[in-house]
Amino acid sequence: MANEPAHVKRTRSRCRNCGFEAPSGDDEWLRLEVPKLGRMTQCPKCESTDVITGR
Ligand SMILES: [Zn+2]
Repeated sequence: MANEPAHVKRTRSRCRNCGFEAPSGDDEWLRLEVPKLGRMTQCPKCESTDVITGR
């Protein structure tokens, strides 16, 4: 059994449209539930879904 790290590392996501940045999974990001595609991240500033999510 592999041990999961106790802390989750913080990555950042960035909007390619307006340059908005916030930590991945942060409450600042809007989330869209898209049937078939699953969950997408949406920029709260410009409502673009062209967001680079951190890994
Ligand atoms: Zn944006």
